[in-house]
Amino acid sequence: MKVTRIAYSARLNPGKYVALLEQARRLGRVRSEVWQRFGSVAGAGLRDRQVRDQWLADGDARRFGVPANAWKETLRDAMADIAANREAAKVQVRRAVARRTADPVDRKRLFSLLKADRWAEDPYLSRLMRRHWRRGKNHTRDQIVVRADKVRTHTLADGRKVWLAVPGLEPRKPIMVPLSTTIAPSGTLRLILRGGRVEAHYQVDAADLPSSQRPCGDREIGVDKGYTEALTDSDGDRHGINLGALLTAESDRLKERNRRRAKLRSIANNAALRADHAKAARIKANNLGNRKRDRQAARHRAQIRTEIFTAVHAVLDKAKAVVAEDLTTTFAGRRKLGKNMNRRLAAWTKGVTAEALRNVSERRGSALVLVNAAYTSQACPRCGGLGRRDGDRLHCTRCGVVWQADHAAAINVLRRHGDPDITLHTTHKRVKEILQARTDRHRIRLPIQDSSRAINGGERTIRPHSPLHTGEQ
Ligand SMILES: [Zn+2]
Repeated sequence: MKVTRIAYSARLNPGKYVALLEQARRLGRVRSEVWQRFGSVAGAGLRDRQVRDQWLADGDARRFGVPANAWKETLRDAMADIAANREAAKVQVRRAVARRTADPVDRKRLFSLLKADRWAEDPYLSRLMRRHWRRGKNHTRDQIVVRADKVRTHTLADGRKVWLAVPGLEPRKPIMVPLSTTIAPSGTLRLILRGGRVEAHYQVDAADLPSSQRPCGDREIGVDKGYTEALTDSDGDRHGINLGALLTAESDRLKERNRRRAKLRSIANNAALRADHAKAARIKANNLGNRKRDRQAARHRAQIRTEIFTAVHAVLDKAKAVVAEDLTTTFAGRRKLGKNMNRRLAAWTKGVTAEALRNVSERRGSALVLVNAAYTSQACPRCGGLGRRDGDRLHCTRCGVVWQADHAAAINVLRRHGDPDITLHTTHKRVKEILQARTDRHRIRLPIQDSSRAINGGERTIRPHSPLHTGEQ
């Protein structure tokens, strides 16, 4: 069995995206033409190879303005779409034949004609096909299909990033697409251009996957990264609830250990000043080594990693697509965190969470959608107004609802996917302006609702998600 994997582009240069979009648009014309000419009975007996040779022979394909390999693959893909469309109709026709034809010999004859795409030879079958096979039309204008041998992948020396070299409109000038993955896609690629990003869809054999592979869920879930728990999702479920306790224990242990080591170090230094070099050397060798320290650190970090990875697996049990904040963007300030253990651990945890989301969704065949998280922890999911954080509560000053802050953030993150105005790169300031403009517009447009709310004293009929309680009670 084959399963589809998706690799996503990472910080793709807009110029490259526009170039790919233009190529996909031209290939969309190839698809439309194929559907137009071969989407009905005329194409039924034809193989894509025959159509291809015919187009090559009469120079028909040159007017599309795309390289030969690109239109050939697109033609093949469109013919396969048409065949799938035709096969779907055949299922219904076969059912009708089975119902209406009692004679087994006659039934078998009709089934064979259908299978061989020769239904036109029988008037009854032709009639059924005409009834059940609706003429299709191309709606695909954002895809580029690239055959395995036409695309190259480059992995950077540190093994941290993979680049795709996609053939462009100009010969020998491939478009380099950076991917947010460490696993190079293989086989024929279907590149889908969506919202400034390239999705590279490819097939892998399920047999090649580790046997522990669990399938992912089928929903779209937003997540918010926390400290007391690894993740809170848009259903309000918490995952990795021991994370906070583990981190606190680790932080306390590190502080205590560092305090003791500092004390021992000063004893050793004093001994050295007194010329008691034997004692100084003994302390250094027996009490200030790295081996035990590193072993303990590795063990504790492994516990934390397990907690986070288990949490991500729990989210993927229900998610086909996980929408999350891009946790890798704020790593620049990592070194400035200095000796503050809590903050250093928090930064490290964030990295592990990003890694777990990326790897686990890749392994289990779900999509990871990264969105702009500006103000997601402050906006009220009910009215869109910016609320006030109070510990783990978010109090909306506009509509009075109190939310569990992480839950509200997860809902907001989920809604950022597909937000027409706020993209991954919209600035923090601009996001605030957009959010404020939306709530202002809402207020102007719905004056009656606002006043009625004031009259009936906070009665609510709309409860889109279960907030903890409303503030005006
Ligand atoms: Zn509100």
